[in-house]
Amino acid sequence: MKVKIEPRDECLGDAICADECPEVFVIDDEDGLAKVINENPDESLREAIQNAADECPAEIIIIEED
Ligand code: SF4
Repeated sequence: MKVKIEPRDECLGDAICADECPEVFVIDDEDGLAKVINENPDESLREAIQNAADECPAEIIIIEED
């Protein structure tokens, strides 16, 4: 799977995704918005990533299948 935040400038910076799955999402210190630190995460993280996508109020977390 491949994970993206798009469009990133619509991120609200609430860190819901980073709380759900810190292995993949972090809040960037520079601009206060979420960024993906692992674009090709292990399958074991799928549930946490899916939860982040479901809970993202901006609905900008995209999960693509390989
Ligand atoms: S959950 Fe969505 S809006 Fe919130 S920080 Fe993550 S990407 Fe941004």
